[in-house]
Amino acid sequence: MTQVFNFSSGPAVLPPEVLRQVQAELLDWHGSGMSVMEMSHRGPEFGQILAEAEADLRTLLGIPSNYKVLFLQGGAHLQFAMLPFNFAAADSTVDFVNTGHWSKVAIKEVSRYAKVNIAASSEDKNFSYVPDEATWQRSKDAAFLHYCSNETIGGVEFNFIPQSNGVPLICDMSSNILSRPVDVSQFGMIYAGAQKNMGPSGVAVSIVREDLLGKARSETPTMLNYKTFADNGSMYNTPPSFGIYVAGLVYKHLLAQGGLAAMEAKNIEKANVLYAAIDASNGFYHCPTALADRSRMNIPFTLADSQLDAQFLAGAEERHLLQLKGHRSVGGMRASIYNAMPLAGCQALAAYMAEFAQQHG
Ligand code: PMP
Repeated sequence: MTQVFNFSSGPAVLPPEVLRQVQAELLDWHGSGMSVMEMSHRGPEFGQILAEAEADLRTLLGIPSNYKVLFLQGGAHLQFAMLPFNFAAADSTVDFVNTGHWSKVAIKEVSRYAKVNIAASSEDKNFSYVPDEATWQRSKDAAFLHYCSNETIGGVEFNFIPQSNGVPLICDMSSNILSRPVDVSQFGMIYAGAQKNMGPSGVAVSIVREDLLGKARSETPTMLNYKTFADNGSMYNTPPSFGIYVAGLVYKHLLAQGGLAAMEAKNIEKANVLYAAIDASNGFYHCPTALADRSRMNIPFTLADSQLDAQFLAGAEERHLLQLKGHRSVGGMRASIYNAMPLAGCQALAAYMAEFAQQHG
């Protein structure tokens, strides 16, 4: 098998150990004679898989007992719609910090169902930074404050948790969950699609404080009510069982690696390798993000001469450095280096970047 380094923004690289385990267990999970794909979600085998996945995620993130862990479908996008139904009356205002593409998508959806106040925005500088919290214009009685802790496209990451000021803090952590320790008790809810740091697409996770449940608008569809899933152990309907199984293996793998503090140390080291390659290039490469807000997970960069983009990408592919093309909305390059990207991948990319700059600079 060709050794590649996959810099995709998601679905993204998974730990090879996990993939090998999935392969080994694919036809016969733990002597059951069945694949996890074929099992009843109500049977004892899947019950064990789900319970272990939840317990391991609780351990990894240190989730307090007054939070529910929900395994959901519909991706982070469906959470955008669920937020107002569950946490905001129709005449209420919700506060948003707008730091880029995914903030904007959430804002657009929530605006359909509640009033939105943009407490802060970095649009003035093309979403290249996190606005200073001291400047945020928060409304008096916000139903909640929402932010995206890591803008996957812009490569802007919060390096702090905003003050809640007594308002539920809700965070889209789709692209940096499990990349660093986080104090869950500061949040009303954290949610994330699985397909970056947790497993395959098709699963979304929500970690929600119990006292926020049970207040959904009366017209809320059953499947959009978090309480439906909280009351039924994520099994109101058929859950995405195979995806939960793989996510559970990823959680075990992360625990075996030393947990989130260990992941954070590795992620800092990996990101430093690539930012150093950009910064040492005398402007051949450029990262638009403000220094303090540079993401450890998604590193966007442009070439000073965009005519060279196609050549850069072709050379990268020859070296098995894959999926580096930037998002269609911004162009350039983007290296996504989630937990499962090894340091060697970042080093290989940095070496290629230096070589390419030398040849074309
Ligand atoms: N939020 C963030 C930060 C994301 O990166 C993404 C997906 N790239 C989404 C939301 C949307 O996720 P999904 O496709 O699972 O709905």
